[in-house]
Amino acid sequence: MADVEYCVVGAGFAGLTAALRLKQAGRSVVLLEARDRVGGRTFTEVRADGTWIDRGGAWIGPGQDRIYALMDEFGVPSYQQHVDGAAMMLVDGKQYRYSGTIPWTMSPWAAMNLGAAMLELGHMCKAIPLDAPWEAKEAEKWDRVSLAQWLHSNIASKPAHELLGTAIAGCYTSAASEVSMLFVLYQMASGGGPGFVLGVKDGAQDARPVGGMGAIYRPMATEIGDSIHLSQPVRDIQQDADGVTVRSDELTVRARRAIVAVPLAIAGQIRYEPMLPVDRSFLHQRMPSGSIFKIAVLYDEPFWRDDGLSGQSAAPGSPATITIDAGTNSVRPGVMCVITEGPIARQIGQLEEGERRKLILGELVERFGDKARSPVDYIEQNWSVERYSGGGMLSHAPTGVLTQFGRALREPCGRIHWAGTESSAVMCGWVDGAIRSGERAASEVMEHDTATVA
Ligand SMILES: Cc1cc2nc3c(=O)[nH]c(=O)nc-3n(C[C@H](O)[C@H](O)[C@H](O)COP(=O)(O)OP(=O)(O)OC[C@H]3O[C@@H](n4cnc5c(N)ncnc54)[C@H](O)[C@@H]3O)c2cc1C
Repeated sequence: MADVEYCVVGAGFAGLTAALRLKQAGRSVVLLEARDRVGGRTFTEVRADGTWIDRGGAWIGPGQDRIYALMDEFGVPSYQQHVDGAAMMLVDGKQYRYSGTIPWTMSPWAAMNLGAAMLELGHMCKAIPLDAPWEAKEAEKWDRVSLAQWLHSNIASKPAHELLGTAIAGCYTSAASEVSMLFVLYQMASGGGPGFVLGVKDGAQDARPVGGMGAIYRPMATEIGDSIHLSQPVRDIQQDADGVTVRSDELTVRARRAIVAVPLAIAGQIRYEPMLPVDRSFLHQRMPSGSIFKIAVLYDEPFWRDDGLSGQSAAPGSPATITIDAGTNSVRPGVMCVITEGPIARQIGQLEEGERRKLILGELVERFGDKARSPVDYIEQNWSVERYSGGGMLSHAPTGVLTQFGRALREPCGRIHWAGTESSAVMCGWVDGAIRSGERAASEVMEHDTATVA
């Protein structure tokens, strides 16, 4: 049995950061990870030619100070997302090209509706206290309605409605009817507003780490060293007056405190003894993740750039809902990232891989021409079938959940502390939020022990 000060469960960015900060503070720590790799919902594949493909989280943006700080710590530079050229919108069989966030070329009426809705969303976000969104003046009202209901009542133009619905619901990789409007406002506010969440340049897709997310998590893991134990899914955590006993199938760790840094629904699969307080336990049952396919289609070169296109496109209802240029900072190869979210991701998940590939390539040909038909490689990642993620990109709250159970998001349960992007008040849902949560949880356990000793 390992006997340490702290046991961290889950080696995504939250758990890695918690373990790293504890180690740097001179504390003894064991980090147990279920998979045979670290990184969790980020997963960078490095190919023989040195190209990297981020199969999960990839982009960073302004305001994400903690990931930038970590990149500085490990000497990882960033590069700007390619945005030159026209973006494309496909609605009702018609293609519209535009630049910026709002597709003004679609129709003045639709664009006006979109602009007004963005303004209203920004205004509502300002009313959200990030530490306690359930205390917003209108929290009860906004938590009673889903995103779908809000869109229905606030956007008259059908294409604008479809477009914004796809864009926002896409962030939660779920149908708009599944997500509480209060949660939408909170998550948007935690990133600085709708402009950041939905924007590319100066938004959440502004830049990328050179080498992908793996260029950050690999040196973190190296510094944590042999305190990390892979392929150790934690099955149960027992706590008593003096500490916690954390068990995987092969290892038992005795520690003063545990930090659990796994997605909420997955945290609910661990057996806790004694049982967790009802609010925390119910929170695990009530914050699901959505469905997402992230597909990288590789070409000899990013031919769409020469055709005056940025590679960015959105097509509500299509199996290739969103595309974005995911090239590295060197020009070759061209990497077109296709993202399929929510109900459509579940539908295409039923197809054979070959059928799915044909469908996706067909969509790309329609948008980017015949050159899109013959990629040099096609790599897909279906996060819905990842046992230790339970979907992606983030867990969301359906109606009523934040006002009823939100207070349990960060509240320690005795000697069990909680990390994970979903527990971060700032940049909730992004890698940056995961890092913040890991830093917060590491400080929390150390402060607790200092207070107990004093
Ligand atoms: C397709 C996709 C695209 C995304 N795009 C972006 C993006 O561009 N930018 C961005 O900032 N964010 C993005 N995200 C979100 C981002 O990846 C996450 O917010 C972040 O990685 C979450 O980190 P975490 O440490 O909180 O959780 P996770 O990464 O989920 O880490 C949890 C860890 O716990 C482990 N675990 C689970 N159960 C157990 C157990 N019982 N015992 C031990 N270990 C366990 C898991 O294997 C995992 O390693 C994306 C996510 C996905 C899926």
